[in-house]
Amino acid sequence: MAELADETSNIKIQELQPKLIEHFEKLITTNKLAHAYLFSGPEGIGKVELAQWIAMRLFCTANEDQKPCGVCGECQRILSGNHPDIVSVKPEGQSIKVDQIRFLKSEFSKSGVEGSQKIFIIEKAESMTASAANSLLKFLEEPVGNVKAFLLTENKNQILPTIQSRCQLVNFVALSQEKLIQNLLNQDILKDQAQLLVHVTESTSHAVALAQDENFTEMTNQVWNWFSRLLKNDAESFILVQTKLVPFAKEKQQQVLMVDLMVLLARDCLLVRYDRKEQVSFSNRLTEIGKVTQMISDKKLIAILDGCLQIKAMLQINMTFQSAIEVTTLKLIDL
Ligand SMILES: [Zn+2]
Repeated sequence: MAELADETSNIKIQELQPKLIEHFEKLITTNKLAHAYLFSGPEGIGKVELAQWIAMRLFCTANEDQKPCGVCGECQRILSGNHPDIVSVKPEGQSIKVDQIRFLKSEFSKSGVEGSQKIFIIEKAESMTASAANSLLKFLEEPVGNVKAFLLTENKNQILPTIQSRCQLVNFVALSQEKLIQNLLNQDILKDQAQLLVHVTESTSHAVALAQDENFTEMTNQVWNWFSRLLKNDAESFILVQTKLVPFAKEKQQQVLMVDLMVLLARDCLLVRYDRKEQVSFSNRLTEIGKVTQMISDKKLIAILDGCLQIKAMLQINMTFQSAIEVTTLKLIDL
């Protein structure tokens, strides 16, 4: 599955978060940048990109019109993750461990690295272990030299209050679906596709990456294949779980995406049944959805939507993806 495109997304950050860019531009110009920030918002909303933009803004040797150029040596090293004064930390496996924070601190205590300014970025800061968070806390309290810290999280409530209180909180607001669709149409993405993408991501760059990802298209087809057979009480839908769905669901992120697609299909059926065709996500499958929906009762439609929603809860209690879908398939075929 496509990751966020790094270099292109950096250019897009000004479209994605124009207000935040303006805000930080002002802070930097007036020398009022705080020493620690907590960026909070959903995946793909531009948190990493904004932190990189600020780093470029601080290090760029050109900085024309108060904007980083994106092409000078400094900007290039930041974009490729090779700048010696910018250290990024992300979870190794499930969590950010205390050794990673120790490494970060040792990097910052080294003298003689170019310039005096240093930046660190901690992605998924909520995944810090308690000892990692405590180790970082001391560092936030007594930073060495000119250090700027950016902690990024999807859920600020999972960040220790002691850490939160030492950071300036920046909430990232999602784009409206209309605005997101318009962004996608501007990038030559078809309307049908845009209509689906805005239901699975809030980020323009993530939506563009998905639109260009053949795996995503194939995954979407296979989810439809499973779903339409399920509606017809076709026992083959059970077999399809292992043979056609599981291969697309190796990563947690892909699993969540697939379940989202299932929920959207179930929701589409109800929307078609209640004459709200203009709101469906899979507008390219409107006719097929209409056909399969005709054959089943309201009660079953609601049970299917409920069943798809419950898969999420099953994954949260660490049931395997395959078991969760198989159990649900059996239960729904049986109705
Ligand atoms: Zn530059």
